[in-house]
This record gives sequence, structure tokens and C-alpha cells, in this order.
Amino acid sequence: MTVNFIETENQKLIRQMVRDFGALEMKPKMMEWDENQEFPIQLFRKMGSLGLMGVLVPEEYNGAGFGYLEYITAICEVSKIDGSIGLSMAAHNSLCTNHILQFGDEEQKRKYLPKLATGDWLGAWGLTEPNTGSDAANMRTTANRDGDYYVLNGAKNFITHGKSGNVAVVIVRTGELGDSRGMTSFIIEKGSPGFSSGKKENKLGMRASETAELIFTDCRIHKSQMLGGEGEGFVQAMKVLDGGRISIAALSLGIAMGAYEAALKYSKERHQFNQPISKFQGIAFKLADMATKIEAAKLLTYRAGDLKNKGSDVTRESAMAKLFASEVAVEVANEGVQIFGGYGYTKDFPAEKYYRDAKLCTIGEGTSEIQKLVISRSILK
Ligand SMILES: Cc1cc2nc3c(=O)[nH]c(=O)nc-3n(C[C@H](O)[C@H](O)[C@H](O)COP(=O)(O)OP(=O)(O)OC[C@H]3O[C@@H](n4cnc5c(N)ncnc54)[C@H](O)[C@@H]3O)c2cc1C
Repeated sequence: MTVNFIETENQKLIRQMVRDFGALEMKPKMMEWDENQEFPIQLFRKMGSLGLMGVLVPEEYNGAGFGYLEYITAICEVSKIDGSIGLSMAAHNSLCTNHILQFGDEEQKRKYLPKLATGDWLGAWGLTEPNTGSDAANMRTTANRDGDYYVLNGAKNFITHGKSGNVAVVIVRTGELGDSRGMTSFIIEKGSPGFSSGKKENKLGMRASETAELIFTDCRIHKSQMLGGEGEGFVQAMKVLDGGRISIAALSLGIAMGAYEAALKYSKERHQFNQPISKFQGIAFKLADMATKIEAAKLLTYRAGDLKNKGSDVTRESAMAKLFASEVAVEVANEGVQIFGGYGYTKDFPAEKYYRDAKLCTIGEGTSEIQKLVISRSILK
């Protein structure tokens, strides 16, 4: 095993670029977006012009053409500032765009990737349904063949960019219930007859990231919109999630780092009993635990990314990185609030937002329990 901890020039450039962009375009408005649950769609267009909406997309499709290490760095830096922007960026890049990149034919890639990679179009990805989240194979939304068309009926919920997405990749049932070969993926454009969006969720955290329902009522989609073959949807979705989970690990890492850095700074500034609170061992040990957990999460996340870059199967590694980093994000954000004391409970300081945003990371793209299922199956097979 070789381990290289040296950051590439590209990673350094991305880090600085995102920091500058975030200071100018995100920090001044993020609490307003959070408070009003406003999805800042124009921000994503600007992020597109910086290559942040097509990080993994090859340059021939107008993407940035980077690998997973640069992608992790980008998501992490964005999420250090605002996790909800990191979540939307991750869903757009890893789920919708990457599904088309991995499984689309040349015509589909030429049609959709340049628009998605530049941020002209926003992507959504629909697997979850009202009654089937973890048990995705039990989905009820159907697509019945009718000549050269498929007719979709049903609903997907908790879909990132469910309202504002210009295009959605959805996985629906074309075969028997419970048959993992009974599901198929389709690319569906906004405005397709019979395709609409429903309720927008009012959430605990990640409030600037739009989460809404997709509704299909006799929605006729031409077979040319199918990704890969009939019956391949579930296997495709699991492969897409292998990469997606690395991005949620990066999102978690960013939130944890943001929460930690804010708490570290505050602990040196806040005085009680005539000394900075960082001088109390009770606080210093918290900071030591936070920093150590973050380093461990970083190693798992970059390791999964490195293996993904090398073309290895990363089902186990991405699940481990996602499980660990997301739980660390919750623990670190929790301790962050504690270090800020009463001020941590107010919206005048960043600690409470990290705390609210972090919790999504142990739920989205497979809960912590489901990651343990994936890991244990891989260990025990
Ligand atoms: C903000 C947000 C954005 C999202 N974005 C998207 C998106 O863009 N696209 C998309 O398709 N989905 C999206 N989701 C959905 C998300 O992936 C699901 O919420 C998640 O997979 C869990 O499904 P569920 O909510 O139905 O919970 P359930 O599956 O009902 O789980 C409830 C509880 O039971 C536990 N549980 C379930 N099965 C088992 C088991 N076998 N063993 C042990 N415990 C188990 C779970 O871990 C959890 O604690 C999003 C969700 C949120 C909140």
C-alpha cells in the first residue's frame, strides 16, 4: 500500500478558488437563505462557470475533467462554509450527472452533460419514494411499455432539486416487485407532460438545498430516454451511490471541519475564570477528540476517492467513509455547540447551523444503519 498525503496543485487551486468564491458569494447571504429556506439557483450557475457543477465530467463534455481527490476537496471546501450548498452540489454532480456519464449512450451524453457540467441546467436524481427509502428495491413507481414509449405513474420524494431541476434521472419499476432486475432508469426533462413537482420539504437543516417531490401521472417518455437497458436501473443506482457516498463523506468532512475551526477560534477568544476556555482541559480534550476524528474521517474519505480514481470496486470503502465521516460530523458539530455555550445556541454564531446541517449526512444516500448493512454484507460474503 502506498499512501501519499501531498495535496496536488489542482487541489490547492480548487481550495483557494472555493474559499474566495465562498467569501464573496456565499458567506454574506447564507443565513438569509437558511432562514427563508431559499434555494439560491443563481449561485449554482456561477459555480458552473467555475467548473464546480461538472467536476468529474471530462472536458470533451465541457466538464472540469478532474478525479475524485479534487472532487472531495471541492465539496469539502464548499461544505465548510455552507453544507446545504455542498449537498446540492453533491447531488447534482454525483447522482444526476454521474448517472448519465456512467450509463448514458453517446447521444445522451452529448445532449445533457454539457448543460449540466456548466450549471446551465440543474440535475435531480430520484430513487426514494414515500414508502420506500432504505428498501429501494421495493419501489412502486411504474413504467409500462407502450410501443416506443414508457408510461410512468407514481411519485418520488425527498428529491434534491425536485422543483428547480431541469432534468431528472429516475429509477422506476418495469418488472416484478422485489426483483432487483425489475427496475429501469430514465432521463426526464422538466416540462414533460405528466411530470410535475409536489411538496417542498420544510427541513431542520440543509435549508438552502431544495428537497421536493416528483410526481408522474401518465407521463409518456420515449424509449430513447432510457439509460442502459431495461432492468439495469437498480444495479446502476447502486454503482452511482458508491461514488455518491464519497461525496457525502466529503460533505460531512467539510461540515465537521467548519464546526471544529469555528469552535477552536472561539475557545481561544472566550474567557471564563480569567482565562481562555481553551485552557480548561475539559475544552482542550474536546478539541483533541474533534481534530483526531476529523483526521480519521479524512483518511477514509480520500482513500475511497483514491481507489475510485483507480477503478477499484469501492462499495465497502465508500460505505465506510460515509458512515464514519457522517457520524463524526454529527459528533463534532454537537461538541462545537457545547464549546460555544449559550452563544452556540443562537444564530449569531455558526455552530448551530453546522449542528442542524450535519444530521442529514447520517441519513441521505443511505442511513448509517444501511451503511453498516453494506459493510457487513461485504465482510461476511
Ligand atoms: C435533505 C434530503 C435530501 C435527499 N435527497 C435525495 C435525492 O436527491 N434523491 C433520492 O432518491 N433520495 C433523496 N433523499 C432520501 C434519502 O436517501 C432517504 O431519506 C434515506 O435513504 C432513508 O430513507 P427513509 O427516509 O425512507 O427512511 P427509512 O428507510 O424509512 O428508515 C427509517 C429508519 O429505519 C432504519 N432502517 C431501515 N431499514 C433498516 C434495516 N434493514 N436495518 C436497520 N435499520 C433500518 C433506517 O436506518 C432509519 O433509521 C434525501 C433525503 C433528505 C432528507
